[in-house]
Amino acid sequence: MATALLLQRTPQRPAGARRPDDRTAPDDDPGRILVCAACLQAITTTGASIEMAGSHTHTFSNPHGLVFHIRCFAVAPGCVSASEASTVFSWFPGYAWMVGVCRGCGEHLGWLFVSADSRFHGLIADRLAETEGPGPGD
Ligand SMILES: [Zn+2]
Repeated sequence: MATALLLQRTPQRPAGARRPDDRTAPDDDPGRILVCAACLQAITTTGASIEMAGSHTHTFSNPHGLVFHIRCFAVAPGCVSASEASTVFSWFPGYAWMVGVCRGCGEHLGWLFVSADSRFHGLIADRLAETEGPGPGD
């Protein structure tokens, strides 16, 4: 299931490039919307999936022994930071982290990782749910 997501990058197609009847081109797929599993707030899309340290998905444990399976995204507009940046026990060397919560309900969804020149979201896989869309006539 996760394999298909690995191949999808943030689409950068020019506006208007897609013809209305050209819905079958694989490269034109913006991906599926990923929503908060708790409240269905739109968080990000599978098209925003990125690889960090060689993989889209990672499994980490925190100092308390809790294990998290996370997925990396370039952007996650529905996830907002809810803490100061910290470099303590960062899972990605060179990045500080902030707790990321759902914009809709405040559920802890993962973390925003920031470095001097880049940032990404690491979101807990089972706190997201996939929806179909956003295309019409589905
Ligand atoms: Zn939510």
